Amino acid sequence: MFPKMNDPRFKLKAELFDHDLIIFQENYLGLPVNLDISHRCPLQCGACYRQSSWYAKNKHLYKDMPKEDIKKFIDSGFKFLEFCGQQSDPLAHPDILDIISLCSGIRLIIHTATSHRKKEFYEEAFDRSGLMTSWVFGLDGLPEESHIHRINQNGVHLYEMMKLGAEMGISVKWQYIVFNYNQDHIDQARQMAEDNGIEFALSLSGRFDKQNKISHLKPRDEYCA
Ligand code: SF4
Repeated sequence: MFPKMNDPRFKLKAELFDHDLIIFQENYLGLPVNLDISHRCPLQCGACYRQSSWYAKNKHLYKDMPKEDIKKFIDSGFKFLEFCGQQSDPLAHPDILDIISLCSGIRLIIHTATSHRKKEFYEEAFDRSGLMTSWVFGLDGLPEESHIHRINQNGVHLYEMMKLGAEMGISVKWQYIVFNYNQDHIDQARQMAEDNGIEFALSLSGRFDKQNKISHLKPRDEYCA
């Protein structure tokens, strides 16, 4: 399933582009592999694909990715995985703690917005994170208002967990999608991030013109992609 270092496909590709085989393999295995590892998410963000009628009809096709399959990437030499959380949230995977441990020796980025896990769970998850593990939290606005877009999210709890991660020495990024309800709170949020050792990243959405479930949250044009 995954090309190994002695896989003839590496040799063929390297020859095709006249590359050094070892450098070509190392570059290939260092590329990020983006995985949506679950089929679960307790949130109901308005523009999420999970909210579509197509997804409702076909959700039985989606499964949790077994941790054994994630291990295959590592055993094959891949050095950079990213759990994108676009149609599921990695923190909803039942084996996420074991998966974090599995990935502790490689570069890992975890994107998450859910808040259903308790403090003890985050402590364990941060404790298992490797030196090259970083966390990106979707908190769209100040902690008490993020749920306007991230329906079902407890933003106050999630923000506390972000601070906990930063206190434990974890690389934590606050991803802040701009909406009309939070567009005037950006400076305050940026300052809160800075005060707590959290990286702040503004994110501009371009999904407001598609008559979807977030069009009523459209911010000023300067904050639209
Ligand atoms: S957190 Fe991600 S997967 Fe869950 S509903 Fe929101 S966009 Fe969809």
